Amino acid sequence: MDQLSIHVQLTNHPKEKPAFDQLSFGTVFTDHMFTMDYTEGKGWHDAKVVPYKPITLDPAAIVFHYGQTVFEGLKAYVTQEDEVLLFRPDENMKRLNRSNERLCMPAFDEELALAGLRKLIQIDKDWIPNVEGTSLYIRPFIFATQPYLGVAPSKTYRFMIILSPVGAYYKEGINPVRIAVESEFVRAVKGGTGSAKTAGNYAGAMKAQEVAEAKGYSQVLWLDGKEHKYIEEVGAMNVFFKINGEVVTPSLNGSILEGITRKSVIELLQHWDIPVTERQISMEELFEAYESGLLEEAFGTGTAAVISPIGELFWQDKKLVVNHGEIGELSKKIYDTMTGIQTGKLPDPFEWRM
Ligand code: PMP
Repeated sequence: MDQLSIHVQLTNHPKEKPAFDQLSFGTVFTDHMFTMDYTEGKGWHDAKVVPYKPITLDPAAIVFHYGQTVFEGLKAYVTQEDEVLLFRPDENMKRLNRSNERLCMPAFDEELALAGLRKLIQIDKDWIPNVEGTSLYIRPFIFATQPYLGVAPSKTYRFMIILSPVGAYYKEGINPVRIAVESEFVRAVKGGTGSAKTAGNYAGAMKAQEVAEAKGYSQVLWLDGKEHKYIEEVGAMNVFFKINGEVVTPSLNGSILEGITRKSVIELLQHWDIPVTERQISMEELFEAYESGLLEEAFGTGTAAVISPIGELFWQDKKLVVNHGEIGELSKKIYDTMTGIQTGKLPDPFEWRM
């Protein structure tokens, strides 16, 4: 078997597809999945597309005890001409390998993984929803399978890709969200795992989210883990502010996840000749800008929502209402352009679609 050969076993029991105009997020899965195994000394092997089904793992598998696992999230779209479009999937595979490196997990061949993804999508193509705003969410993930209770990197792993048709993130138009600035819990610290897409970061973030939600906020704005001073991310998204005509986003400092939407928005702004800066920005500075009337727009960026405008920030008993709680002009323009490129409705001067 040459390295790029991917064995295919098709299902004999195709599932009934959901109504594409009634999809939610991440609850329905397609007929097939991609899997590949790693064994120390042998490397990655047995790349294949097989029917989607539950998997069996030893209860002592390292992933359950020490969380050695990484994942990705990206989307595929189908055009009216029936063409399948992926948005920068090579970037997701690169990031997955960076996450692997941080978690002492073995690197995989990105070309092989992309070939596996393409094969899987081609087989489950009819599962890509074609209703406005919908997409096929793609979840690649890798986990440690060795049955061993010692705290050490596993000698065996599994790489999988599953697919889930998902509904429009904004069903009733884009609504700016209310955000609580988190001054107690932290998501990540410099030197920690914040820049890797690993399960523990998300498990550790749930408490803050739960507390914020109970107070009526949709998400938290994360501050740095040391001084609780500098802005890092918003929920599971990167964050941008438009201050006096300049767009600012926190620079990658080792605890922020390098979002592919973030990177694309920066490239888009540069293409438009709109000033955009990656730098450290404190909550105090943001508040001062707000008080001076210079905070024009605020938004999160991520695969799920693409752009999520922030209508209100709550920080130390102070309420910052951004752009009267409405979506800003630039946020809207970025959203329309990004989604237009992703879905094939607009030309793609950056060659992001693959
Ligand atoms: N930060 C975190 C913590 C995330 O989980 C995500 C989603 N992957 C992002 C930012 C945004 O990244 P992307 O634009 O690649 O989806």
